[in-house]
Amino acid sequence: MTVKVELEKRKKCMTKRNLDLGIKIGIICLIMCSLGVLYMYLTNSTGNIYQNFVNQVSEEVEKEVGKVAFLDKHIEGKATLAFFPIDAQGKPVEKLANPLHKGLETVDTHTDISVFSYTKQKTLNQYDGYYLYKKQYKLEQGKYKEQSAELLATYYFKESGETVSFQDLLEDSIDSHTVMELLKTLVNDTVKELTQKEKLLNMLEQKKLSELDYAYTKDQFSLLSQDDNGKIFSTKLDITDVIPYFKETVVFDTYKSVYTTKVAEIREKRKTYRQQMLQNIVNGIKQKVPSKKIALTFDDGPDSDTTPQVLDILEKYQAKATFYMLGSRVAGNENIIKKMVEKGHELGNHSWDHPDLTTLPVEEVKRQVEQTQQAITAASGGVAPKSMRPPYGAINAMVNSHINLPIAMWNVDSLDWKTRSAEKVYEVVTNHIGNGDVVLMHDIHQSTVDSLDRLIGQLKEQGYEMVTLSELYDSHELVSGIQYFSANDAQIVSE
Ligand SMILES: [Zn+2]
Repeated sequence: MTVKVELEKRKKCMTKRNLDLGIKIGIICLIMCSLGVLYMYLTNSTGNIYQNFVNQVSEEVEKEVGKVAFLDKHIEGKATLAFFPIDAQGKPVEKLANPLHKGLETVDTHTDISVFSYTKQKTLNQYDGYYLYKKQYKLEQGKYKEQSAELLATYYFKESGETVSFQDLLEDSIDSHTVMELLKTLVNDTVKELTQKEKLLNMLEQKKLSELDYAYTKDQFSLLSQDDNGKIFSTKLDITDVIPYFKETVVFDTYKSVYTTKVAEIREKRKTYRQQMLQNIVNGIKQKVPSKKIALTFDDGPDSDTTPQVLDILEKYQAKATFYMLGSRVAGNENIIKKMVEKGHELGNHSWDHPDLTTLPVEEVKRQVEQTQQAITAASGGVAPKSMRPPYGAINAMVNSHINLPIAMWNVDSLDWKTRSAEKVYEVVTNHIGNGDVVLMHDIHQSTVDSLDRLIGQLKEQGYEMVTLSELYDSHELVSGIQYFSANDAQIVSE
């Protein structure tokens, strides 16, 4: 249209006297107008194409997961878009929005638009699932065309609103150590690219199992991580290597038969693997040269009269200790247990009412341990005992298999239960103490309490730092299936 108007103008010009000038002006007008139209067309349409694309993807994601919000970032003509569901109040669903912030930190220069978005699935044991995808688009002939789609992570929600963590997928009897080691082995075997391998192993070193972002569907198991630049990447592992460690209820139908037929073999493999892992830990401990740290431990309490006195003396010397308590003595002493936690001491399980566990039927062993664990955790306001000291140090394979806690032994017995003499307790401990030792005492005898001021003062003077049992082993997590005697002595409970 505009061009036609210009031609009309030109015709009129030609009828005037100054023909040359008219032609010149006409041509200039024509060029300028054409350029203007072209410019407007181009700028408007790229803007429109992008806006249309955003609207279209918004609509698609909304259809899948309900109302969404989005963030975008542009660098040098490349865009990254992230869509995430919002709740009834219009707030982003945190668990689903957080991983996307990482994704937005970088813009992929190999593509025109990278889109992070969710689809909704209901596939895992009736859990509501959100699948996080990364899709890449390139502008071709005025349209953004999808080049690739990659499933990065799955987020399944429990009824409580919490997400199903990787830890939740695992069979209860499997300790996190075993699984972490397995994942490291798989990453080592699977990932070829060296920097990526290193990043993943680092991540596994730093995170807890419950913190891992994973994708788990009937076709895929992968771990989500990011590189130094914040760029998200996912690593696929062989699903059949991982599911043998899962609860049967979260194994997809496709793998049910493999899972069932292989279960014996898998258990055997798991056992050998676990034995190896435990042996490595024990070897590591035995090779250690202990520092001047010792762990004082107090059994059979709490007692409303004597235990608070012990706590006061410990506080006076800034000493930390571990208390192996009886479940039956918790009621009425909750404040004492809270104070232990407050003052930085460690809680331990010493059974419900002090039987020799090796003489009891399985069900009774479980009850002794679990009820005590629950009672102490409730009394402390949520802090669970980290280890178990079986009464009389009596342990066997059967008992161990039902405890599922590290076994806390000792290597210096104060004999306070026998001598009932403050003087003797002082003598026995000071005569036997050495670096890395674990001292057995009882906070229910007044004679023991009476020995403590002098004893702890003396130990301090000798340069000993009194720490909790966990602290004695530095940052190495205490593991079930191992008996801990001292900082450089431990043993596997034989099976
Ligand atoms: Zn005891």
